[in-house]
Amino acid sequence: MLKDTFGRKIDYIRVSVTKQCNFRCQYCMPNTPFDAFDKDEYIPLDNVLEFLKVAIDNGIKKIRITGGEPLLRKDLPDFIAALRNYSKEVQLVLTTNGFLLQKSAKILKESGLDRINISLDSLKPERIVQISKKDGLENVLAGIQEALKYNFGLKINTVVMKGINSDEILDLFDYAKHRNITIRFIEFMENIHANHNLLGLKEKEILEIIKTKYDFETAKDQIIGPAKLYSCKDGYQFGIIAPHNDDFCQTCNRIRLTADGIICPCLYYQDSVDAKEALLSKNPQKLQSVLEQAVYNKPEKNQWDTTMEADKISARAFYHTGG
Ligand code: SAM
Ligand code: SF4
Repeated sequence: MLKDTFGRKIDYIRVSVTKQCNFRCQYCMPNTPFDAFDKDEYIPLDNVLEFLKVAIDNGIKKIRITGGEPLLRKDLPDFIAALRNYSKEVQLVLTTNGFLLQKSAKILKESGLDRINISLDSLKPERIVQISKKDGLENVLAGIQEALKYNFGLKINTVVMKGINSDEILDLFDYAKHRNITIRFIEFMENIHANHNLLGLKEKEILEIIKTKYDFETAKDQIIGPAKLYSCKDGYQFGIIAPHNDDFCQTCNRIRLTADGIICPCLYYQDSVDAKEALLSKNPQKLQSVLEQAVYNKPEKNQWDTTMEADKISARAFYHTGG
């Protein structure tokens, strides 16, 4: 079992399989050119698989595949199938913008994927264009319907931005609730790649809006993870991911592997472990060593400052770390 120096059990890895994306979200990489990334820098998924086998042997219970946009990778179903073949118990989950989900849901199910988180920031087509620079709403909604057909556990992730989609909190809530999908509203996290004019809504502001229509309370059974869960009277649960809150890091149980072979012990902390050589070698001792190093390096708290002073906000891109 992996434990960091602050006693936290580490049993979750987020694996980014590409930096590329077909969207250009305002909070992620609005100004990044589409040809900015070099595919050659990615570690082959065969090598990533060997690392993840070592991680599973060390007690990793959950692997999230993310990006960039992971569904852009044609070899993803084979990668998922190989992981599932190695372990029947590990939870395999995916985070996607949903644009390509309709045509991949079936093969993902057959490969052994358990759950999918889909980013959805608006139900208005023109807003999706404004937010992501892609006319993608129809595809994303069709992707959600298809994933429901295959009985994936689904969650919707919504980043709430003042004056952009903050008036759609209740509409998005109802969309998710009517389909019995958990929605999680995410506070916008400042970083230098995002649109600098964006302002996020904080947890309290989001809850106040939901309160105008629904009665809810803090859920009794909180899962370990970044989202704080709330229960409505009829039992429907939703979540808020509020990294601006002080207690956010206390139960952190994860590390991140980027597509170019860097292990990040924390999302908002510049130290990382360069695992490229170990990954390319497929040598189990070297893979064990970089895994242990990353867990050892995990800081107690993120080093995040929201003052937006250039030297303080995160230089790390969400499309690199996988969010
Ligand atoms: N492309 C996929 C997607 O959008 O779901 C996966 C990668 S994306 C980087 C992973 C998650 O990070 C998404 O849920 C996205 O909303 C979130 N994210 C990206 N930038 C963010 C930011 N600045 N603040 C909060 N969440 C962010
Ligand atoms: Fe792409 Fe996801 Fe970043 Fe949006 S948040 S630009 S969909 S990687």
